[in-house]
Amino acid sequence: MAGKTRSREITARDTHQSIEARGALLLDVRSDEEWRLAHIPGALHVPLSQLDARLPEVAPDRKRPVVTYCAVGARSLRALPTLDELGYEDAVSMSGGIVAWQELGYPVESESGLDAEKRDRYSRHLLIPEIGEQGQAKLLETSILLIGAGGLGSPSALYLAAAGVGRIGIVDDDVVDSSNLQRQVLHSTAGLGELKARSARAALEALNPDVDVVTYEERLTSENVDRILGEGWDLIVDGADNFPTRYLLNDASVWHDIPVIHGSIYRFEGQVTVFKPHEGPCYRCLFPQPPPPELAPSCAEGGVLGVLPGVIGSLQATEALKLTLGIGEPAIGRLLLFDALAARLDEVQVRRDPDCPVCGANPTITGYIDYAEFCSPGVSRPAGAPTGQSPAPPQPDAAESTAPSGAVSPNTVPYGAALPTTTRESQGKAR
Ligand SMILES: [Zn+2]
Repeated sequence: MAGKTRSREITARDTHQSIEARGALLLDVRSDEEWRLAHIPGALHVPLSQLDARLPEVAPDRKRPVVTYCAVGARSLRALPTLDELGYEDAVSMSGGIVAWQELGYPVESESGLDAEKRDRYSRHLLIPEIGEQGQAKLLETSILLIGAGGLGSPSALYLAAAGVGRIGIVDDDVVDSSNLQRQVLHSTAGLGELKARSARAALEALNPDVDVVTYEERLTSENVDRILGEGWDLIVDGADNFPTRYLLNDASVWHDIPVIHGSIYRFEGQVTVFKPHEGPCYRCLFPQPPPPELAPSCAEGGVLGVLPGVIGSLQATEALKLTLGIGEPAIGRLLLFDALAARLDEVQVRRDPDCPVCGANPTITGYIDYAEFCSPGVSRPAGAPTGQSPAPPQPDAAESTAPSGAVSPNTVPYGAALPTTTRESQGKAR
């Protein structure tokens, strides 16, 4: 028997010739997973256990030569008796399997380009039809820039890295301070005094070596914003802690046409929305100008519940993954409002302003404005002030009349909050 089966093996080279010269059918008897990982172009795939049931239907010509193959040649040999029983007259097995085939330099193709290690690491993504191998491959090719490695940037960066986003940029010039560790989970006590960008890179590389982490140990300014945004980013996650950076980032993202996933936090309340240039509103559509210095909050004094940036930053990461994968309904034109104390998530619709000074039809702002000063008079940002924390927004003057009652708390309405909103979720709900 052993002698008989051995005589029914042919080499990978002969297999290649047999396909060319005799029109042999190449039959892959491995598992679905192995097939997806890599297979020989033009082969037919029927797993060994399904040969009886499926082969006659998909390969009705019993006279056509058949060459079975598997990984290294064992299962394909075991398939031959089944093929004999089914009436296939000329069936042989390729010795050495697809491994030998590849060693000879013959082509294989893959549905995703994911190797076995990646297929294992991202298996819970691969099981979701909306993601699958193509989606995971897309994530691995995606570049996402994070502004700030603080409260919001921490969970975003960790989840995006864990999800296999291939390239993650981090812009942060701050160092890790002990007051950060209550919420900035990228950093640890051992990293006190270290640059956050470096501390973040170490944490992300330890989490997932598939991720290429690019660090910018500098504060986003009008001087460097074009250089940094020009380095091929698909999306930006905004975890900035101050108005100057938010306005600078907004204007730059509109001009560079990069969507921004915005998040802000204050005490127990947070907000998330997606600013997709020219498709939805931008930050200036909502708040055309920053507050005057006397109304600007101190950049350091806003308290925040430690877990709150975990919620909001994770929502930002969720939106980033959805946008990358092209699935679901992104929060474009919708401002999500999370109230931790009430355990409540509301949303208000926000609209593009046709007269927006940046993304409107006739823009009045066409160059970067350096607002760096407005946070500083009398309320300068001390070293080690928390990043990723939204400044305490001042009381809006017009919000009460235009924002729906109960939908937006003054504490969470950023400055200039003549919110061009209508409600959906919150209509008629008084709190
Ligand atoms: Zn705008």
